[in-house]
Formats: sequence, C-alpha cells, structure tokens
Amino acid sequence: MLYNSTENKNEVVSAAQAIAQGISKDGGLFVPQELPVYTEDTFKSLLPKTYNERAKFVFSEFLTDFTAEEIAECVDSAYKVEKFGSECPAPLVAKKYNGNEINIMELWHGPTCAFKDMALQILPHFLTKSLKKTYDGKTAVILVATSGDTGKAALEGFKDVDHTKMIVFYPVDGVSPMQKRQMTTQKGNNVNVCAIKGNFDDAQTGVKNIFTTEEIIKLLNDNNMLFSSANSINWGRLLPQIVYYISAYCDLVNEGKIKIGDKINIVVPTGNFGNILAAYYAYCMGMPVNKFICASNSNNVLTDFINTGVYDKNRQFYATASPSMDILVSSNLERLLYKFSGNDDKLVAQWMKSLKTVGKYEVTEEVKKEITDKFFGGFCNDDDTKKTIKTLFKQENYLCDTHTSVAINVYNQYVEKTGDKTPVVLASTASPYKFSNAVLEAVAPEAISDNEFEMVEKLNQITGAEIPKPIAELENLEVRFNNVTESKSMPEYVKETLGL
Ligand SMILES: *Cc1c(COP(=O)(O)O)cnc(C)c1O
Repeated sequence: MLYNSTENKNEVVSAAQAIAQGISKDGGLFVPQELPVYTEDTFKSLLPKTYNERAKFVFSEFLTDFTAEEIAECVDSAYKVEKFGSECPAPLVAKKYNGNEINIMELWHGPTCAFKDMALQILPHFLTKSLKKTYDGKTAVILVATSGDTGKAALEGFKDVDHTKMIVFYPVDGVSPMQKRQMTTQKGNNVNVCAIKGNFDDAQTGVKNIFTTEEIIKLLNDNNMLFSSANSINWGRLLPQIVYYISAYCDLVNEGKIKIGDKINIVVPTGNFGNILAAYYAYCMGMPVNKFICASNSNNVLTDFINTGVYDKNRQFYATASPSMDILVSSNLERLLYKFSGNDDKLVAQWMKSLKTVGKYEVTEEVKKEITDKFFGGFCNDDDTKKTIKTLFKQENYLCDTHTSVAINVYNQYVEKTGDKTPVVLASTASPYKFSNAVLEAVAPEAISDNEFEMVEKLNQITGAEIPKPIAELENLEVRFNNVTESKSMPEYVKETLGL
C-alpha cells in the first residue's frame, strides 16, 4: 500500500516513509491511496480473535512494507497486560444515560490514563522499524505540541528509545495540574519538556513551522538527524486507532447486541479530529455506521463547520474543563476533506492556505452534503459537562472524565433531536482522575481543595472508583522540567536542546 500527500498527489511514499517523515514536505498529510475493504466474512473471521490478533490483521493490510514478524513485535510489545491491565486494552462497558444504553469504550487503561496511549505505545515501535527501512542510522527528532495528553503519552512511549529524541511543548496555562505534573516529572535521557506562553494552537503552529524551516532541516541533516512527528498528523498515530473501532464492533456482535451487518453510531469527544477520523476510516473499510457524532466543548469550531460548511477559527478561544479539546485548528480534518473532495489535492491545498492566511475557508456544496450526511456536530459548555458527570454518576454510580462527559452530553442532545436509537459506541478518552478538580466540582464541590493529590484521595473516598497507579505514584516524583519560553523562541529552544 502506498500513501500520498493531501496537498500533492504526486508525492507518493511507502508506509515506512510516511511514518518516519510524519508530515509531507509540502505541508500536507499522508493518506493511504486506497483502503482495504472488509466484507461480512472478514468481520466473521475477526470475531474469535483477541485484540492483539485483530490489530495484527488490520496493520498487515496497511503496513505492506513490514513483515508479519515485525508487525507482531510491534503489537505484542505495545499492548501488554502489564501496560493496559488486561488482554483487551479497550474494554466496552454498557451504561444507561437518561434511559438510553451507551457502550462506553474505555480507552484510558494505558500508562498515562488517556486514550493517546493506544497509539503512542505502538508508534515508537513502528517508527524505529520505519527508520531502519528508510533512514538507517539517523536519529529522529520528534517535536510535539500538546494540549495535555499527547505530550505525556508521547514521552512515556518514547522515553529511552534508541535513535529518538523528543521535545514537548505545552501551553503554560492550558493543561490540567495533573497533566502538567505528569509531563514535568517525566523520566528518560532523550526527552525534554517546555511550556510556551500561548495556547495549544500557538504551540502547534510553532512546531509545524519548525518542521518546514529549511535552515533547521539542513542543520539536522548535517548532524545525522531528521524530524519526525508523534502528533496525530503522523499516519502511525491514526492507524492504531482504526483497530479499536473494528474491535468494538466485533465485541458488540460477540455480546449479541448487534448482528454482523447492523449499523452502529459512533460518538467521539473531538479535538484534532484524529480519533473520529479513525472511526470514519473503519467505516470506509466496511464497518457499518449510521452517524458519527462529533462532540466539542465551547471551542465549537467543528460544530459550526459541520452545520454550515464554513471553517472559521477567528473566534474567542476558551480554556475549558476538557482541555485536550481546546483546539481551534483541527489538523486531521484535512484528511477528511481530501476524501470528501474526491482526492482533490489542489482544492485541499487552497483551503489550507486560506486557513493559514485568513483563518477561514468554505467547502463546496458537494462536500457540505457529504459531511451532513454522515456527521452530526454538537457541543456543550463546562456547566453542562459537570452536570452530565453528576447525572451519570447518580444514575449508574459510574464516574467519567470531562472529555467523555462532553461526548455523553452531545449524544444525549442527538437522541433528543433525532430519536435515533441505533446501538452506540462512545469513545471514553481519559480517566476521571486526570481531571479530579473538575470532576470533584461535579460530584462533591464541597471537597475542592488546592492540593491535586488530596482531591484524588477525596474523589476515591466519595466514589469508590479505583485510582490508577500511574496517578497515585506521581506525587512523589521529582520535577525535572521548569522551562517556559515565548512561542516565537521555539526554534532557538529546539536548536539549543539538540546542541546545534
Ligand atoms: C486528545 C484528546 C481528545 C481529542 O482527540 P482528537 O483525536 O484530537 O480529536 C479527547 N479527549 C482526550 C482526553 C484527549 O486526550
């Protein structure tokens, strides 16, 4: 299988190259030239398999330049019981919200308690193998812009991995105290963490610009290094996410909730559009889906886009209780637009240019129609996010985090509006303990304090929900990274850190 850039169809690369490079030279994102097609028989054959076996099957169709042994090594090193707590790293739990059953897919049982572990535990294995195939002997420099969860998951995935160095940038006031502590205490000799004065989009733009600055690329090259990316623009991040949707579909069949061929709805709390796009790719491959419900917080640029066809990032930016979704430029949308425009690289390049220069673009009528046909967009503010956590906890004695709560709230809006009761899989993207302050405000506001770990304890006492070990251990770790810089100084920071 070959991949090309969304902004230049003539740029054609192998899977290894797409993963090693992260982003295309023209600024476009790599997409598979065509997707494998799964029939009902394919799904039937996947039913008796374990999660890891399903993952190997899916990867073998996309990573055609990897051997079966290489793929097996990647999968078995990433999704271990010691790391994810069980043989299924993405278990489904059925809960009712206002009487409607929701199959909650808990994607946060990995080492950093957020769904990004699902991809970032395996990406380093994909990447080191890809580097060997394409740029043997070079060191990959991975720059990460994070709204909180990617940074920690990437650090944890890449710490002390040979031939890699990592620098993570996060918005100084844009992450939760727990997320900050997770990152600033990170271990590993090849990693560095820096706060920037700005928001997530500033960090992401800064990283994108460094990636395409000729002078720095040359400096790296002269020192036997090259840039790569662990952000969800990297195909190696997106691919592992396709697996859990297909696996969840199989699980629902095995549980007798649906029959092969039945449609499901999918709800995703969305930021950079990576997670929901992976679900959409699973649909394109043959997984039956009725609607994709794209849930946003007050930064509702995607809701407006789905409803109007106009993407406009010129708006107030809100720091919300679901910080990993505080994003105004959803990078992975570019891949969807490429698909919906019939692989029109020129048109996509034009829209992206317009986004960069005037912060806005409007898609064609045809693309608009494709979007509203398959996607429902909705949003909810912090008050409603907390109310939803409280209601779910009252009704089911089940605690969810703020991001998952946004999804539940928007799903509830969808059902009220449409009456559509198609069986649903909802992506639960973080442990509630990662956002104890907001979650505590929802279920027991009188217990709020200014000590993060005290609040974790309180939350545990009140709800009985188990505290994940990686969070319990954080309190005693030493802070290693205190750096803060202006977003415009990011290139200098990178050069200095790499000793260039
Ligand atoms: C990253 C993240 C999201 C958003 O996912 P995208 O793939 O960027 O849309 C949602 N919730 C949590 C907890 C996250 O960490």
